[in-house]
Amino acid sequence: MAERGIDVLLLSVGADLPYLTGYRAMPLERLTMLVLPGDGPAVLVVPALEAPRVTPRPDAFVLEAWEETEDPVALVAARCGAARRLAVGDTTWAVFLLALQERLPDAAFTPASTVTGELRLRKEAAEVDLLRRAGAAVDRVVARLDGARFSGKTERQLAAEVAAMVVEEGHEASAFSIVASGPNGASPHHESGDRVISPGDAVVLDFGGRLQGYHSDITRTFFVGDPPPRFREVFAAVQAAQEAGVAAAGPGVPAQEVDRAARGVIAAAGFGPFFMHRTGHGIGLEEHEAPYIVEGNTALLEPGVAFSVEPGIYLPGEFGVRIEDCLVVTGEGAERFNRAPRDIHFAV
Ligand code: ZN
Ligand code: ZN
Ligand code: ZN
Repeated sequence: MAERGIDVLLLSVGADLPYLTGYRAMPLERLTMLVLPGDGPAVLVVPALEAPRVTPRPDAFVLEAWEETEDPVALVAARCGAARRLAVGDTTWAVFLLALQERLPDAAFTPASTVTGELRLRKEAAEVDLLRRAGAAVDRVVARLDGARFSGKTERQLAAEVAAMVVEEGHEASAFSIVASGPNGASPHHESGDRVISPGDAVVLDFGGRLQGYHSDITRTFFVGDPPPRFREVFAAVQAAQEAGVAAAGPGVPAQEVDRAARGVIAAAGFGPFFMHRTGHGIGLEEHEAPYIVEGNTALLEPGVAFSVEPGIYLPGEFGVRIEDCLVVTGEGAERFNRAPRDIHFAV
């Protein structure tokens, strides 16, 4: 904070707060905010009715519970005192930031990621271990889906089954589960719906959960029945692109080189325009966090940096294919968190 010229860090909803305190604020209308000055004790301002959710950490912060008739913004402002350079959590609700700005007219606000971004970017060994365990858990879900019956189920039904398996395999919660069948597979973030899966469908399954706060995220593409040559051709391009992306990952490599490696394979196969999203995103306490694996991101990867490599090809009106693993950069290259086979998976 001193290096970045920040007097006080203010953290609310989002991952920075659990990163520093172990407590995740409820994303509701009552303000929770950690007031962390550069010197002096940190104070966690929390609604009285949510105070019992907080595991006390006297070494880390003092708890200040506010009653229903109190004004929590006034409490936070009082704790800020004469501080003028405030960093506020990136995902803090606008309504609270606006109220704070009104109460502290002389203060300058910057995003907290100015300070927390670098801390969270390089995962510590214990964090890598949780990401590894979460990755192994979704691998087990993939194994349970191999050869399973998809036909006759709606996307929504299958998505619910996958979400339940994510929890059964050791996550505390499912974070998301995308089931995109047939032509719906051409929409990368498809909202699983009422379409009934049937033989001849390609099905993109993208899912993950949270294990002790840390996320898993995996995509595998299934086929119901015997895939036609066109599907096999597209699949082979995505598979080679994913391998190339992972192979490019390592310490000292600009993030955009991983994207270029994967994208180059797909472009060479003639499907360049049908891969319209970045190659990956960081993963940790958030499903999507820095670094973003995209053209233009010249930041160098370092040991401990964890992210996804998930190229895809999306053919409107036909089908989609995506393959996604998460990995962490090591001293020499990268270690994948996902080991489930990366070839075509089959369902009936
Ligand atoms: Zn995504
Ligand atoms: Zn995913
Ligand atoms: Zn992802």
